[in-house]
This record gives sequence, structure tokens and C-alpha cells, in this order.
Amino acid sequence: MNDRQLYRMRAPASGREALAHAEPGQIYVDRETGEEMVPVAMVLPLAPSPSSLPRTPANLRACRRCDQLIGLDVSDCPHCGLRQSAL
Ligand SMILES: [Zn+2]
Repeated sequence: MNDRQLYRMRAPASGREALAHAEPGQIYVDRETGEEMVPVAMVLPLAPSPSSLPRTPANLRACRRCDQLIGLDVSDCPHCGLRQSAL
């Protein structure tokens, strides 16, 4: 087991996000913009799944109004706002 926790990192100025195995006291910098990124959320894998990545195709569904791919754990479509039906 990897004891490092996966975090969703965000650069406050640009809002760019990335996933990283963050460790306390370490500073993470966006490879493209050079901005410092801060952890905003802990990423928990949906088990059981062949992948621990939260946005693999197995963990996505298409919104029935706008057809954008959204996470299974999302209750409202982030693209058009449509409330998603229960699984
Ligand atoms: Zn939608």
C-alpha cells in the first residue's frame, strides 16, 4: 500500500487543477505556469474499481441533457446544471 495520499491540487490564481501525491511541508508548482499549487481536496478512490483514478471512464457517465462526461459521484452536472438521477 502506498502511504502517500492523493490530493487534488489547485493553483489559486488560475484555478488550474492537478492530482498529486502531496506530502506535508512540500511545495508543488504547476509545471506549465510555475504557480504554486495548494491541496484543496483529498482524493478517495471509488472501490471496487480497476483504477484508483477518480475520472477514469469506468467512473464517469454522460449527462443526458448536454452529453458531457461527469463523475458518478456528482449530483448536478457542472456543465449545464441538470440534476442527475440516482444510480
Ligand atoms: Zn449537463
